[in-house]
Amino acid sequence: ITILGLESSCDDTAAAVVREQGSAQPEILSSIVFGQTDLHSAYGGVVPEIAARAHAEKLDLCVRDALADAKIGLADLDAVAVTAGPGLIGGVMSGVMCAKGIAAATGLPLIGVNHLAGHALTPRLTDQIPYPYLMLLVSGGHCQFLIARGPEDFTRLGGTIDDAPGEAFDKTARLLGLAQPGGPAVQAEAAQGDAKRFRFPRPMLDRPDCNMSFSGLKTALMRMRDQIAEKQGGLTRQDRADLCAGFQAAVVDVLVGKTRRALAVYLESNPSHPTIAVAGGVAANTAIRKGLEAASTDAGVAFTAPPLSLCTDNAAMIAYAGLERFKSGARDGMDLAARPRWPLDQTSPALLGSGR
Ligand code: ATP
Ligand code: FE
Repeated sequence: ITILGLESSCDDTAAAVVREQGSAQPEILSSIVFGQTDLHSAYGGVVPEIAARAHAEKLDLCVRDALADAKIGLADLDAVAVTAGPGLIGGVMSGVMCAKGIAAATGLPLIGVNHLAGHALTPRLTDQIPYPYLMLLVSGGHCQFLIARGPEDFTRLGGTIDDAPGEAFDKTARLLGLAQPGGPAVQAEAAQGDAKRFRFPRPMLDRPDCNMSFSGLKTALMRMRDQIAEKQGGLTRQDRADLCAGFQAAVVDVLVGKTRRALAVYLESNPSHPTIAVAGGVAANTAIRKGLEAASTDAGVAFTAPPLSLCTDNAAMIAYAGLERFKSGARDGMDLAARPRWPLDQTSPALLGSGR
C-alpha cells in the first residue's frame, strides 16, 4: 500500500510518500518539508493569512518533489491523505483542496487525517509498538496524555489547561530576546545556566489528575527579568542562561510529575507490552526526554521517541496515519471538511460529515 500525505496546518508545507508491504515496518519513500519561518520572523509569530498563501503556492511543488524523490507517479498510489484539522483554517483548506483536486483527477481515495493523530501515531511508523500505548503529545500548540488504542481510538487522560509547553518556550525566548523557534534557543542557553538560582512555580503538581498549566511560567519569568533589569539596568549573559535553566527545569518537573500519574492510570488497563511514546516538537528537548525516560524506567514501561525530523510537523506522519485509516476501510468524500478544531477523542471526519 502506497500513500501520499499532505500537511499544511501550521507553518510547514509538506508532502510525503509512505509505503507498507505486508507485515513489514512501513517505509518513508520521501518526505518534503518547506518551512515558512523566514516569512513570519518579522512578525514574532505565524501570520495565518501569509501562511495560507504560502501553502497554496507551495503544495503542488511539494507533491511533485515528494513523488520524484519516491521515484513513483500518481498511478502508483493507493490513496491520498491530507490533514483536515485541527490548525489554521486557511492552511488546512489549502491542503484539503489540493488533495481533493488530486483525488478528483486520478480517482484515488481521499483520506482526511487529524493532525494530532499524525503526531500520536508517529512512534508506530518508526518502531513496532503495539496498541494500547501511552502517548505524551507535546508540541507548539498542544500538550496531552492519550491512551492510543487504535488509529482512531484515543482516550485523553488530561493535558494543559492553558498554554502548550512549546508556546511557553517560544514566549520565554521572546521575553529574553532569543531567536525563534524558542525551544532550541532556550535549551542551548539552559545548558550554560544554573537551574537553582531562580525558583519557578510547578503549577498543579500537587493535584492527583493529569492536567497541567504552563502560562504562569512566563509571568514568573517576566517578573524575575524585570527585577534583575531594575537592579542592574539589564540582563547579563549569565542571568539569561540561569533564567532559561530555571524555566526549563520547571517544565521538566511538571511534565515528568504528571507523566508518573498518567503511567499509573495507563498501567491500570493492564497492557501486555506497556510502552510510553512522546511526540511533537517539544519532544526534541534533551532534558525533557531524559526526565521522561527515567520516569518510564521507574514504572517498568518501555520508552520511545521518534527521531527529531518526525517530531516536528511533517507529512510522513500524515501519510502513515492515512495508511492506518485506509487499512481499516475508512474513506472520505468530496465533502471532507477542513476543521479548525478537532479534538482527538472524537470521531472520524467521515462520520461527522461536513459539519464542524
Ligand atoms: P501543533 O502540532 O500543536 O499544532 P506545531 O505543529 O506548531 O503545533 P511542532 O512543530 O510539533 O508544533 O513543534 C514546534 C514547537 O516545538 C515550538 O514551539 C518549538 O519551540 C518547540 N521545540 C522545538 N525544539 C525544542 C526543544 N529542543 N526544546 C523545547 N521545545 C522545542
Ligand atoms: Fe504539529
